[in-house]
Amino acid sequence: MKMSKCIVIDPGHGGTDPGAVAFGVKEKDLTWKYSLSLKWFLQKLGYDVILTRWGDVSVPLGVRPQIAKGKDAFVSIHFNAGDKRARGLEVWYHDNDIKGKKFAEIVERGIKIITLSRGVKRDTQRYKTGFCVLRLCSAWGIPAILVEVGFITNEEENKNLQVDAQR
Ligand code: ZN
Repeated sequence: MKMSKCIVIDPGHGGTDPGAVAFGVKEKDLTWKYSLSLKWFLQKLGYDVILTRWGDVSVPLGVRPQIAKGKDAFVSIHFNAGDKRARGLEVWYHDNDIKGKKFAEIVERGIKIITLSRGVKRDTQRYKTGFCVLRLCSAWGIPAILVEVGFITNEEENKNLQVDAQR
């Protein structure tokens, strides 16, 4: 019997933590919609999928990677905030994590066909504390990436991201 690979999808933020908010859009709502779409897409390809949160609930950052223990991969979904002109995809991996880097490169190469990409980024923990999910997965040998799908602070990209979320 063939065993399916199990991928853990982590919809960023949720519950009392909205994440970034811009133009009336909360990051936690977009991460939820995109995570569900990704879940269905991966299931159609034959993967088993687990989500770190179900619906609009708070799940501590330290708990999320624990759900991925013994699983094949961890993908955290986020949306960026920044300068109003900033736009595009970023795919992050933890510091010296070779598996994460390889994983990030494959995913970034796949998505940049359909969207503007700012490239693969290495997190050294000096950036954002939310990236601790990558550090924990790395410590436990789980291939992990954090995908910043786009900037909700860019008005045009915000609109495009919402259109995509309805598909
Ligand atoms: Zn976020």
